[in-house]
Amino acid sequence: MPFLILSDIHGNLEALTAVLEDARGRYDRILCLGDLVGYGADPNAIVEWVRANVDVVVRGNHDKVCVGLDSAEHFNHAAQASARWTESQLNAENRAYLERLPRGPLPYQSLDLVHGSPADEDEYLQSAYQLQGYLPFLGAQVTLFGHTHVQGGFLLTTRAAAPISPRGVLDIEPDYYYLINPGSVGQPRDRDPRAAYALYCEEERTVEYRRVAYDAHRAGAKIRAAGLPDFLAARLLEGI
Ligand code: ZN
Repeated sequence: MPFLILSDIHGNLEALTAVLEDARGRYDRILCLGDLVGYGADPNAIVEWVRANVDVVVRGNHDKVCVGLDSAEHFNHAAQASARWTESQLNAENRAYLERLPRGPLPYQSLDLVHGSPADEDEYLQSAYQLQGYLPFLGAQVTLFGHTHVQGGFLLTTRAAAPISPRGVLDIEPDYYYLINPGSVGQPRDRDPRAAYALYCEEERTVEYRRVAYDAHRAGAKIRAAGLPDFLAARLLEGI
């Protein structure tokens, strides 16, 4: 059975619910690449669901900032406001859970899990150019990453790197290394507002990229009702 790969849920319960409905019956384990909270209006509900259902999790930069493990000085105004609000909302058990999340890279079976990159948990992997000469940092043939909120990833050989177009099913070929980004469940930034996720099948050696529409108006209304910046609600409708 495949693994359900989730990243950057960001407190968006409407998006997570739609993803679980879309993926129902198609997986037997759940892996999460961090940023459970921040931006969205349901941090406690998301952390409680992750605690009860997810098999392996690595921490994201928002998870650290929202529990005071890192400073928000590098965040923009909206991200700072949401981090302060999220910290004020988290109950003690959920806060303690976020504080204990491991940093990536975290090996799981044949995979490595990271939030940002194998070299730095906070690094944004955004272009193939960044990945020239990157092979020594890879601990597995397939590394799962998030953080950029852009579905897809990269294919590497000893000499070159290229972006992966996230359409349908990708075959994992023996001669390549893969950095796979399932995209963001709760705040996609690749101009497709639908929630993003992936299914990884070890037996078939495939990655299936998936998108699913969800009620972004409702998620945005909750963000506004919490008094958070309007931009955080508006961007959900645009996928930016
Ligand atoms: Zn994120």
